Amino acid sequence: MQTLEEIVKALKEYDGDEVRIMEVCGTHTAAISENGIPAMLSPKIKLISGPGCPVCVTVTAVIDKLVELSMREDTIVLTFGDLIRVKGTDKSLADAKADGAHVRMVYSPMESIKLAEEDPAHTYVFAAIGFETTTPVYAMLLEQADKKNLKNLKLLTSLKTMPEVIRWVVKNGGGIDGFIAPGHVAAVTGSGIFEELSKELGIPFVVSGFEGAQLLMTIYALVSMKGKTGMKNLYKDVVTYEGNLKAKEAVEKFFEPSDSSWRGMGTIPGSGMTLKKEYLQFDAGSIGLDTDNMPAGCQCANVLVGKLRPYECPLFGKVCTPDNAHGACMVSTEGSCYNYFVSGRK
Ligand code: SF4
Repeated sequence: MQTLEEIVKALKEYDGDEVRIMEVCGTHTAAISENGIPAMLSPKIKLISGPGCPVCVTVTAVIDKLVELSMREDTIVLTFGDLIRVKGTDKSLADAKADGAHVRMVYSPMESIKLAEEDPAHTYVFAAIGFETTTPVYAMLLEQADKKNLKNLKLLTSLKTMPEVIRWVVKNGGGIDGFIAPGHVAAVTGSGIFEELSKELGIPFVVSGFEGAQLLMTIYALVSMKGKTGMKNLYKDVVTYEGNLKAKEAVEKFFEPSDSSWRGMGTIPGSGMTLKKEYLQFDAGSIGLDTDNMPAGCQCANVLVGKLRPYECPLFGKVCTPDNAHGACMVSTEGSCYNYFVSGRK
């Protein structure tokens, strides 16, 4: 087994065929930039950011619906993360809040239970976006709300799952030689689904942690596996083959697979989760939110599927910066444009 020094040297001096590796997790995108990994690689190893930032892939129809709900007298929209700053067709939730709409930031979805209990005169709507990692938290929230028979707590869901969007990217993005499988998602789903995807797509997957050394070992493994089928789990402290069975059970109780709309990709069959029929009393109007009116000139759609590097967008660093984000990929700290901008990544 190679030492880390040997791996670093091999990655810097690699002179074989070009290898295009996609990370499909926003936290990996951020970790790759923070650790300066692109500068440690041979120019023949290309890292490409994929559609794993939940804020970035949420279509404008979802933001528009949240804005509309927040302007109702009897409704308060709760959100966490950067979603508040992402523009819908006309405005973001932050703009709506500045106009007097009812929008509140929370640090955990579970806070919404207390808020709803203490204020029965208002309906609280949680902006439930995310991937397999976050959906179990929403299931826990619903478990509590159901037990307490809370009628004034609802979710506006835009929940995504990884396998179908990975299939979509392989078919439509083109030219990916290997995937850094998302570590947090794999902790819930298990590494097994990536083994199945590898067999089906004929592309290697390596499940990775988030530290610089872990990412370098993952990239080294993927370079060695180019052209081969296979899955390696290099994040065994956290990820098992089967995943977190309790979390999966909790999700299955409340949610079922559904079609879902992705920024720049349209509706991908079976790529999301929605509330089951028997729990639709908790839904704030999530069905059919598929319109995607991106800001003029924003290339997020192409960036998210690896067709364009963030710095290839004509607005990057000029009209669009983290302080004055034009598109969702520059808003989120997990967004490709944000990370390329703050790290100077090429
Ligand atoms: S730089 Fe800004 S405008 Fe361009 S793709 Fe990224 S987020 Fe959109």
